Amino acid sequence: MRYLIVSDLHANLEATQAVLDAAAPLGCGGVLVLGDLVGYGPDPEAVVACVRALPGAHVIRGNHDRVAVQPEGAAAFNPAARDAILWTRAQLGADPLTYLAGLPQGPLAIDEDTAICHGAPFDEDAYIFGPGEANAALRASTRRLLFFGHTHVAALYAAAPGLPMRVAGPSASSPYQVTLDPGERWLINPGSVGQPRDGDWRAAFGVLDTGAQTFTCHRVAYDAARTREKMRLAGLPASLIARIGPASLR
Ligand code: ZN
Repeated sequence: MRYLIVSDLHANLEATQAVLDAAAPLGCGGVLVLGDLVGYGPDPEAVVACVRALPGAHVIRGNHDRVAVQPEGAAAFNPAARDAILWTRAQLGADPLTYLAGLPQGPLAIDEDTAICHGAPFDEDAYIFGPGEANAALRASTRRLLFFGHTHVAALYAAAPGLPMRVAGPSASSPYQVTLDPGERWLINPGSVGQPRDGDWRAAFGVLDTGAQTFTCHRVAYDAARTREKMRLAGLPASLIARIGPASLR
């Protein structure tokens, strides 16, 4: 079984479509969506519709999905994120809002080996940026493989009993594949589809192959100029537009 794994789509339709196009020939029979379908980007309704149309998808909410539904939570966001989520809420009709409100909070068990969460298994708003935080997250999980998002930074951590946490990637090369040694537990962030923050502007996604026990990180270019133009027309904050696309567009 192969799973397409995506996180932090953030209402970026061009990036989402590029990922789905790139993943189409890879033979994925299921999809794991780690939250933050909306927020920041210009196409919240269309991205929610894309996710809802995915066959065999397991979807959890992210903090932006939660605040789109419960806008009183926007007070905890920085000003740009707050402006964007209030704009997002105003764009969403009753049906997609009801869908977002019904998304489960992680961690969500997928099978006996695998679980997904947005931030960390103990707190959907917690950030995992290093081996120490990764260790704490693995201790809080009952599964061998735990997938997370929220940081918008692709990351792979491997833990074997009695050894320090191993940083196993990612790499600048794409695709980049690791073998999930059965003697290790893994904590993996596939990176962000719609707003990467790891120095590579391209949309990120991952593929888990449960039979071969491999995970592959992918990056795919998309029409970021179009996304930026939509954000400008929507009046979304300039600081958010500046996070989208290659340096040549900034
Ligand atoms: Zn996010």
